[in-house]
Amino acid sequence: MPSRTWSPKTTTIRPEPVAMTVDRASPAASVSPSLLRGIGVCPGRVAGPVAVMAPRPRLPADRPEVADATAEAEAAISALALTAADLERRAAATSLPGAADVLEATAMIARDPSLEEAIRSAIAKGEPAAWAVDRAVDAFRAMLLDLGGYMAERVGDLDDVRDRTVARLLGQPMPGVPERDSPFILAADDLAPADTVTLTSERVLALVTVRGGPTSHTAILARSLGLPAIVACAAAGSLRDGELVDVDGSTGHVRVGIAPHEAAEVNLREQERRAARAASRGPGRTADGHAVALLLNIGDAAGAASVARVDAEGVGLFRTEFLYLDRHDAPSVDEQVVLYSGVLEAMAGRKIVVRTLDAGADKPLPFLHQEGEPNPALGVRGIRTARRSPDVLTDQLRALALAQRATGAVAWVMAPMVATAAEAKWFTDLAHEAGLPVAGAMIEIPAAAVRASDLLKHADFLSIGTNDLAQYTLAADRMAGELADLLDPWQPALLELIRMTAEAGLAAGKSVGVCGEAAASPALAPVLVGLGVTSLSMSASAVADVREALAAVTLAECRDLARKALVGLRTT
Ligand code: PEP
Ligand code: MG
Repeated sequence: MPSRTWSPKTTTIRPEPVAMTVDRASPAASVSPSLLRGIGVCPGRVAGPVAVMAPRPRLPADRPEVADATAEAEAAISALALTAADLERRAAATSLPGAADVLEATAMIARDPSLEEAIRSAIAKGEPAAWAVDRAVDAFRAMLLDLGGYMAERVGDLDDVRDRTVARLLGQPMPGVPERDSPFILAADDLAPADTVTLTSERVLALVTVRGGPTSHTAILARSLGLPAIVACAAAGSLRDGELVDVDGSTGHVRVGIAPHEAAEVNLREQERRAARAASRGPGRTADGHAVALLLNIGDAAGAASVARVDAEGVGLFRTEFLYLDRHDAPSVDEQVVLYSGVLEAMAGRKIVVRTLDAGADKPLPFLHQEGEPNPALGVRGIRTARRSPDVLTDQLRALALAQRATGAVAWVMAPMVATAAEAKWFTDLAHEAGLPVAGAMIEIPAAAVRASDLLKHADFLSIGTNDLAQYTLAADRMAGELADLLDPWQPALLELIRMTAEAGLAAGKSVGVCGEAAASPALAPVLVGLGVTSLSMSASAVADVREALAAVTLAECRDLARKALVGLRTT
């Protein structure tokens, strides 16, 4: 990572009011004094102390009058200085790669004299300290976005300075992922994908969130880190800092207030379980030898290293948008070539399917300007972003082709959110022309599943994204924990669409995989194979269990299970 620097380049400050609010959903869930229930989204059990992630500070609805502007300015400036000092202390203390640069650059923003000047000027106009900080930062924010490039990238850091300073002034808890000396179980209202990407399994033992659904991107990122995780746990808001809890990511249960010796036992058992899973090796096969490739879903270059660790056959879904969630300008071709070349090299000849940027809905990419859509899940997301910003897609395809040439590897490429055969043709033609010989489409929209055979006249392969396919088939927001029953991948309507797609693939002699979270279910994997899918792509933490589940059944048994599942009989 290049060293970050902050250069004050203030021109005209254009103050505008900003609302700092945090929505708190209050989904119903059953609670007992010691057991909280949510939806387990990443298996594994761990016990440890809770650290609560505070939400962004909220400015009270009633704005107080300023009695003493000088005192108000002193309070604001000293809170800003404390924010800077705290960031500098963390920069000096961190050992995480790249983190010191980020923290130092953020501290430099907090020390920028023109920010101080803007705060003083807002106070002189009658704003109380916290409101003045908010207003000054918002004006800076607009200015940085206008400047673009490196400066626009600092917007997230600037927001962090605002949140920390405002929280200090209002006596509210510090926002963001907490800093602790030892690993903790993170309890949060919800995590933005950008929060989740800052987590590491060294710092965080498990995640428990009030909101989110089983296929929300928080859940997906937790799985990619192998962190036991529970979402839609309404009572998680009652967890307190330091409390000892036992989190079971399979059952969705959180036992609160356990004794230290119980915590030690839980962790010992989990270590033994992990050791047993680490010993699992070999290609995916049913008991009678029918091959089903077991592939990984990854979100960054480091994820490629897990392929060898769990002995997967390759990568079935590389979610490239996860690389750029905090970027305010599009990555350059050169930058992408370096990154993709590294991933292709790490694959050492194994299969890799790279998905072009799937921006939109809960994964907006700032450089694609997707804000303001009334219904983002039905808006300009996935391949549709190329209607507005075709260069971002063509640059990505070019970078992939250059990475292929540089490494001598072949990357399969696919587009997300393809709805029609015409879109599949447009994308695959574009990819082939760019020098990518294997180009496919994701099946995430019911229309595409129904017309899979038409899509296969153009696409070289299909990959079923069951997370979105369930969301759009059942008309149930994948973020909504309370609709989890509708998003259940055992829903016969979803399985029917998978069957139609897989049969179209068999007829065309082309591969049809599943890369949504359904592929990670050991109970459902045999059903998917029985429906005709040729590969399953999942997080590294799921591979051992799915491998074992397939090895326990014959292909004929898989087909029988599939027939039963299509009429609503589940085998869990
Ligand atoms: C899916 O929708 O199933 C999928 C794999 O894509 P994502 O979860 O990234 O939307
Ligand atoms: Mg999707």
